[in-house]
Formats: sequence, C-alpha cells, structure tokens
Amino acid sequence: MVVDMAIKLCDINNCTGCGVCEKVCHQNAITFDYDDLGFRFPIIDAAKCVECKACLRKCPIISPVEMEHNSICYLAWAKDDYIHYNCASGGISYVLCKHIIKNGGFAVGCVWDKDFNAVLTIIDNAEELELIKGSKYVQSYIPSEVYDNIKIRLNNGEHGIFIGLPCQVAAIKSYLNNDRGLVLCDLLCHGGCSPKYHKEHIDFIKNKKRIDVLSDIKYRGGVYDFCISFWKDKKVKYVRPANADTYFYSFCNHTLFRESCYHCSFAKSVRVSDITIADYWGIDHTFISDKKHLNGSNLVLIHSLRGDALWDEIGNKIEYYERPFEEAIQGNDTLKSPTKKPKNREHLLERIKKEGYEKAINTDPDYKNKSKIAIRIFIKQRLIYYTPKWIKKYVIKIKNLSK
Ligand SMILES: Cc1cc2nc3c(=O)[nH]c(=O)nc-3n(C[C@H](O)[C@H](O)[C@H](O)COP(=O)(O)OP(=O)(O)OC[C@H]3O[C@@H](n4cnc5c(N)ncnc54)[C@H](O)[C@@H]3O)c2cc1C
Repeated sequence: MVVDMAIKLCDINNCTGCGVCEKVCHQNAITFDYDDLGFRFPIIDAAKCVECKACLRKCPIISPVEMEHNSICYLAWAKDDYIHYNCASGGISYVLCKHIIKNGGFAVGCVWDKDFNAVLTIIDNAEELELIKGSKYVQSYIPSEVYDNIKIRLNNGEHGIFIGLPCQVAAIKSYLNNDRGLVLCDLLCHGGCSPKYHKEHIDFIKNKKRIDVLSDIKYRGGVYDFCISFWKDKKVKYVRPANADTYFYSFCNHTLFRESCYHCSFAKSVRVSDITIADYWGIDHTFISDKKHLNGSNLVLIHSLRGDALWDEIGNKIEYYERPFEEAIQGNDTLKSPTKKPKNREHLLERIKKEGYEKAINTDPDYKNKSKIAIRIFIKQRLIYYTPKWIKKYVIKIKNLSK
C-alpha cells in the first residue's frame, strides 16, 4: 500500500487515515487506497513528490501534537429530558454544539451520508443537530472539503466546536496549528470498526428484511439504547441487541478495528483536546442511585482554560457533579491503554475471506452463545417496557408485602 520511496509516510500499522498528509501536499501527490476492511490509506505518487516533507511535518502520528495534562472530571447529563433520552449517553455533546450554534458559531459532528457512511460535517443550525445525536459505531472520516471549510471560517473570524474521535481531533489540531477559535472535544474511543463490513451488513439486512429505503440507523439513545435499529419514516424495521447482531457484535468484540486502533497513541489519560466526552462506565452506583438517570450519563474531562470557559457557559443546561479522576480511569480502559487485539482476529479474517462475513460470524461459537443470552435479556426488557405502569406498581406492592 504505502509505496517505499524517499518520502516514507506514516507506518501502515499506525496510520489513522486522517488525511492531513493529503491536505497539505501542494503537489497533489497523495491519494487514498482502501484495505480489505475498507479503511483508507494514503499513497504517494513518486513522480509528483518533490520531497518537501510537509506531509511528515503535519502527520499527527509522525509529528505528535501538544497534549493536555490537566483534567477535572465530571459526571454530567443534559437537564432537558428529551435530549438526555435520545442522545448516546448524557447528551453533553449535543448541548455543547447547540450552545455554540446559538451563539453564532458552527459545530463539526458526525452524520450519516446518503449511503450510511459516517462522515464529519459542518452544522450551522440547531435543527440539523438532530443528525449528530447518538454514536455511529463505525470509523468515520473527515472529508477534504470539511478541512478546507473549517480553516476558511476560522480565518474569517468565526468560532466553532469540533467533536470527533481522538485521532481526528489530533489531525485537526495539527492542520490548523491549534487555532484558538475552535474548541476541540474528543470522544473516548476503543476503536473504529470496518466501514466495508458495516456497509455489507446494512445491505444484507435490507435484503433479508426487504427494506427498500432506510431513513436512519441507530446504535445508541432512545427506546433501543445499545441495540442496532434500522428505521424507515419513524418506524423501526429491524432491531437487535448489540451481541445478537453480527456487525454490532464485531464492534463490541474489537475484531474488525483498524490496525492503528490497537496501537492508538491517544488512548491514555493525557488528552489531545480541550474536553473529553465519554460514557461514565466507572460511576459509583450508590452516588447515582437517587438521581434522575434516563439513559446513561457522560464522563466529561476538562483539560484546558478554553474547555473550562465553555463548561461554565453551559452550566444552567446540565446537571453535573465533580468526581475523582481515578474513578474515571478505573472505569474506562482507553484512558489507560489501547484496546488489545483479539487473539482470534487473523483466523476470523481468514474465515470471513473464505465464507463471507455474515456466515463467518453467525457460525462463530462465541457469537452463538452471546446472541442467545442477549436476545433473552432483550425480550425481558421489552416485556417490562410495554407492561402498563399500574401493573408494575401492583407487582412492586405484592413483592413488598411478601418480604
Ligand atoms: C467509534 C466510537 C467508539 C467509542 N468508544 C467509547 C468507549 O470505548 N468508551 C466510552 O466511554 N465512550 C466511547 N464512545 C463515545 C460514546 O459512544 C458517546 O459518543 C459519548 O459518550 C458521547 O455521548 P453524548 O450523549 O454526549 O453524545 P450525543 O449528544 O448523542 O452526540 C453524539 C456525538 O458523537 C459524535 N459521533 C458519533 N459517531 C461518531 C463517529 N463514528 N465518529 C466521530 N464522531 C462521532 C457526534 O458527532 C456527536 O458529537 C465511542 C464513540 C464512538 C463513535
């Protein structure tokens, strides 16, 4: 893939596919190719390269960007129940973007394009922010024109917020020389999953369920949080809990991540951004038990004065509590180290090549076991969800009487 010549781009095992090298190449000598999992990699045209080394100076892996060392840790969620319920966890990403837009700025977030590729885009109005809600559990990318437009807007004196995966934040930070007009937020990320098998899986399910057109795909938030759900005009057409869907299972089991995710240079407590946002996995449940907790809550780490100032500005829109940083580190492994590459990954990739993706996962013993358990729990949760409130109250009363 990466051609061996005088200029050697980032090692293929560490390249995140961010695209900064292509952006800064004045000779247009860098283009992209795709590997077997659909991840893009830069290639250099030796005939065009003049060896100016701009690509090496701006590559956030070869020439690392400045990291932020201090962190104040918060547990937080949006006060607005609708936002909290429909967002991935606490809705803090959405609240931050909305605040910036309401104050005349722009937001950069991840949306589905018409083919359900996850792409970062610039958003100027609060209505369009609906599109960034929820996590798209596939590796997203920053289109070339988004890099350009962010730069042009900042040069014109506009301000904004960028929310993306840590490697994307590093890319933007390097490309813009850490421009002060843009607040940088990274999501804690344990890995970007294969765009190729994501696409294949969508087509497979559409075919199987005879869905002609899809309007949305969700992984997080709302009534089917932590399930994959396919939607057409507000009607759900397919829904499975994470471990009972071949693709979501691959994401949760880390098997189809980009190679660089297993060596991620950003998976540590020192962060690349002004604000880090995540799910608060390690929260002490006794602390949260008496609090309204609709659909999970965010872990928020503030690293810089710029992050702190913005946090103060959204204070009346959110509920938040300062927590010990050690609690966050304990609960979220990617604050310590990158995700470990599963031992069976190479074997699985071989099987996928031979048998096809769906068959290879469907016949995997681990998938079979986990999906059975997941379906059982899912049915139980659905029954509880649809049981009328008066019956639930009655059952609790009977239980209390029999104690
Ligand atoms: C690939 C991936 C892996 C993750 N791994 C972890 C993890 O290991 N531990 C953990 O605690 N949290 C992880 N997260 C973050 C978590 O899923 C939530 O996104 C985060 O808690 C924000 O919640 P929220 O309620 O503030 O989001 P919302 O208010 O619902 O907003 C969602 C935000 O996520 C952004 N986003 C969604 N999908 C992508 C994507 N593919 N690429 C870039 N940006 C995206 C949107 O632009 C938006 O800003 C991961 C997210 C992704 C996308």
